[in-house]
Amino acid sequence: ESNWAHVEMAPPDPIIGVTEAWRADPDPRKLNLGVGAYRTEEGKPLVLACVREAEAQLMADPNSNHEYLPIAGNAEFCRLARTLALGGDCPALQGGRVATVQALSGEGAGGGNGGGRRGEGVCMARTGGGGEGRVATVQALSIEGAGGVEGGRRGEGVCMARTGGGGEGRVATVQALSGTGALRVGAEFLAAHLPSTAPRVVYLPSPTWGNHKTIFAKAGFQVREYRYFDAATRGLAFDGMCADLASAPRGAVLLLHACAHNPTGVDPSPQQWARILALAQEKALLPFFDSAYQGFASGDLDADAASLRLFVRSGLELVLAQSFAKNMGLYGERAGALSVVCKCKDTAGRVESQLKMVIRPMYSNPPMHGAAIAAKVLGDARLREMWRVELKGMAERIISMRRALYDALYERNVPGDWSFVLKQIGMFSYTGLSRVQCQKLVNKWHIHLTLDGRISMAGLSAQKAPYLADAIADVVA
Ligand code: PMP
Repeated sequence: ESNWAHVEMAPPDPIIGVTEAWRADPDPRKLNLGVGAYRTEEGKPLVLACVREAEAQLMADPNSNHEYLPIAGNAEFCRLARTLALGGDCPALQGGRVATVQALSGEGAGGGNGGGRRGEGVCMARTGGGGEGRVATVQALSIEGAGGVEGGRRGEGVCMARTGGGGEGRVATVQALSGTGALRVGAEFLAAHLPSTAPRVVYLPSPTWGNHKTIFAKAGFQVREYRYFDAATRGLAFDGMCADLASAPRGAVLLLHACAHNPTGVDPSPQQWARILALAQEKALLPFFDSAYQGFASGDLDADAASLRLFVRSGLELVLAQSFAKNMGLYGERAGALSVVCKCKDTAGRVESQLKMVIRPMYSNPPMHGAAIAAKVLGDARLREMWRVELKGMAERIISMRRALYDALYERNVPGDWSFVLKQIGMFSYTGLSRVQCQKLVNKWHIHLTLDGRISMAGLSAQKAPYLADAIADVVA
């Protein structure tokens, strides 16, 4: 008798299963609208030219090797990633060089930040105290800063001046296994290190990316939902959302999609974000931003980070999970980052040491390749500009697919108001099609999608939009 005889078959993943069904479908008209990955007009995966070039440069470097990264990963990647999200002028990053140096030298010394340095008083003393003179990494230090590279490579004098400048530098960042890994490490850290008085409760939007629930549940959180999608308007259920947040227990974790909400494509307006921030402040909620689509939503990296930056500038502490899967097309490379924005830089140093304590027994240290590519693209002015243009191109193709689908539905006089197709943001559109209607799309029309009615606009092409509109017209008739 096998030890595993009693093991039951787990249910297939609802999203991964769609692509498998699509692969197995022999019909030439078939369409994969389940895939959460960018596709070209020809339906092919896209490797960005900036990524190809960064990769070629890495390969050609005679000094490259396959040594381990530190537990917290590629430090330059971490700095560039968080600056991309928070903005080069973010007050929380000014003086960030110091926090980063501490981390690096802590690693080098093998000891982290030592135990027992708790409490605000100590913290403030240390902030002013500046025992951070171990600057073996001046060049790396100077890379972080407004606008990245051009402003970055300053001389030692400037760097030292800034180190002494007493800015904030209160963001702890570690490399993570893409967005999923960042969420998981973040959730584990919070479960272990939130104040003992805070509830281990997380509020997720309803609906949300399915993996959120499991990630937080696995980390020991009680998972609750706040109203988000309003089926009647196919827009935001804003009043319901506010009511749910207002009744959340003080100190609960509040998961927010930074932009391009998955699966609904519905984002709050700037005014609504301001209200959500006010509620988070009133209820002392801890915001956890999931940023999986920066630049992919609007085509503008800064515009897509506006919600996050609003929160950071308000002075709140928060957590940020970043993924480079979509916006750099690095899906399988697992390039991501986790940042914890703290009240002061001493706290950031201690937080980073504890993030490493989460990572070490989980997977020891992250893979190098994807982070090295992303760091090259972010840190080289020319590659970064190439990226900006290519990213905008991806976002614009998706936006144009919304127009193509809307026009084709309009031409066919498909009953109902389909203007939401134009209004929704990012890779997905949440159609409101029923499970039965979705099944008919799959079985009769060979259009593969998740049965919640989510369609990936990235899987559509101008050529296939009329076919999809025919199929939708048929299933809603
Ligand atoms: N969060 C959201 C909202 C997502 O849509 C995704 C990808 N589907 C992720 C996180 C994580 O993706 P990855 O781990 O590939 O970066």
